[in-house]
Amino acid sequence: MKTRTLPGTVTLALILISGPLCLTEIQVVTERNAGANASGAFKFKSVPPPSKTDTATKATFTVVDGERDGNGGDVARLNDGRVPGDEDRPAECFFFRQGTDGGRLQIDLGSNGPIKQVNTYSWHSDTRAAQVYKLYASGGGAPGFKAEPKRGIDPEACGWKFIAAVDTRPGGAAEGGQYGVSISDSAGNIGSYRYLLFDLSRTEEQDAFGNTFYGEIDVIDPTAPVIAATNAEREPITKTFTADGGRYHFTMDTTIAPDLTEWADKELRPVVQEWYPKLVAMLPSEGFIARSNVTIRFRDNMGGTPASAGGGFVNCNAGWFRRELKREALGSVVHEMVHVVQSYGRTRRDDPNVTRMPGWLVEGIPDYIRWFLYEPQTKGAEITARNIGRAKYDASYRVTGNFLNWVTTKYDTNLVLKLNTAGRAGQYREELWKDYTGKTIQDLGAEWKAFHEQRLALPPKKDEPAEEPKKSVVQ
Ligand SMILES: [Zn+2]
Repeated sequence: MKTRTLPGTVTLALILISGPLCLTEIQVVTERNAGANASGAFKFKSVPPPSKTDTATKATFTVVDGERDGNGGDVARLNDGRVPGDEDRPAECFFFRQGTDGGRLQIDLGSNGPIKQVNTYSWHSDTRAAQVYKLYASGGGAPGFKAEPKRGIDPEACGWKFIAAVDTRPGGAAEGGQYGVSISDSAGNIGSYRYLLFDLSRTEEQDAFGNTFYGEIDVIDPTAPVIAATNAEREPITKTFTADGGRYHFTMDTTIAPDLTEWADKELRPVVQEWYPKLVAMLPSEGFIARSNVTIRFRDNMGGTPASAGGGFVNCNAGWFRRELKREALGSVVHEMVHVVQSYGRTRRDDPNVTRMPGWLVEGIPDYIRWFLYEPQTKGAEITARNIGRAKYDASYRVTGNFLNWVTTKYDTNLVLKLNTAGRAGQYREELWKDYTGKTIQDLGAEWKAFHEQRLALPPKKDEPAEEPKKSVVQ
């Protein structure tokens, strides 16, 4: 067996097998992608990409010896034509139980046939990336053939032929990354076989985490086309529904949070169906047609943001929703649906006559609708003795929502409709407040605050130490 190291990370091992009639060389090419080179595409310089049309796709994989780790996927992960999407996706890989030293895996291709290559793929950030194994093959016809030899039994003593030994650990050290191994033969085909046997070893014994995260094992037929494997992403979970007699179409996407699917269908869907048409009817303007397709999708990459909206999407932070199911979850979606209906972003930005609605009002309107029309019983936007010190009309979110409710009740029941129309047309100006109510926004703000101070029987003092107003968490 000759081994030589190519430049970069490619290692080529040549195993010389001599027989009476032929000289063939088994070649083992191993490659490692690390850092930015390790993408979900599993692209290597010399090792072929994982395939979803290889012979192993229809083969039967059996664990002959050793124990599968329950934290990983089952053995079917190895021939499903799908590779892990990242370096730490245990459910998308197969590996032997932690603390053990590998095991044996048998592949039954169903019948004898030529094998051009055997390719194996793995990915992990640490010592579970490298591949250490021996590969045997058999046609199954040899006398005394044992199809499932346990580890104490030498496969070569029971009808198996040794094909190759693979060890991708450079210099004995186990390095993380993405590994591709391709076993082939200089003569063209490895041989004609029905069975393959992998004797898989752990990469290290310093800790319990030495069993390799294998993502895919391919057996390449010389004639079959190779179609690249795709990433083993989660099965999509989406439900569609309509509202207002089919006028509005919604998609609820809980792919990343299957546990929220039932809640989204039972609790959230009726709120969306009732309130989206209501919001559209509440905020009409000339020539405006609200989006007829809205997707509500749960995400796990939103950081500390509970929910957001944009481009016909309502994004829901799955972690936050799980905690808020019985509290703020539904109301936050109503808030975001108001953003979808507002559509202030549609005005032309390059027009010098176009103004932008101030942010505090963009957020105040959804919170007014949410807290005073959708869920007034929760009293979530009250001005209290604790928060009045900081109550300002432009404090945004629920404080502004309270202010809008007060102006609406006292001066103009159509105030929010009018402000929204102006905002949508890119025509918002501060003077509008005087046009609508006869008073400037500053006067209205002072009057609103005095009203609450009086209601709370507080002396109208300035600079009074007070706590922060209850902070709205919805964006
Ligand atoms: Zn918002």
